[in-house]
Amino acid sequence: MSAVGKVTFAMIAEGTRRALERRGDVIAKALLFANDTKKEERLKEMLCPGCAYGGGYLAGQALTRWNCFACGKEGMHHNTAVPRLCLECAKELALCCRCLADINLEIRRRVRIRKGEAKRKTTVRRR
Ligand SMILES: [Zn+2]
Ligand SMILES: [Zn+2]
Repeated sequence: MSAVGKVTFAMIAEGTRRALERRGDVIAKALLFANDTKKEERLKEMLCPGCAYGGGYLAGQALTRWNCFACGKEGMHHNTAVPRLCLECAKELALCCRCLADINLEIRRRVRIRKGEAKRKTTVRRR
């Protein structure tokens, strides 16, 4: 048997095709992060770049009841990866609704609560 053994041309072709695909996926994802390509869509959903582009969170397929961390409002989510903030609170606090990161990834020194929030005596837990 030669050095190639069971290696066939087809295997090499297939392996190379898949490797190129993986390379392309990683580059595309890196470009998404680097250029914030879908910023408008991600801000509509109040997701930080990590949650919008990173993905990869595990979710069970079950309609799940959840409560907003800020206003306590109850909602239903289409899977078990429930958000932490409702869209309104996420917008008001400028936080990612899923992971509570600053929506612009700016490092904050403290929880910033705007006037309207303070009046409703809403507390935002620091994580
Ligand atoms: Zn809320
Ligand atoms: Zn996030």
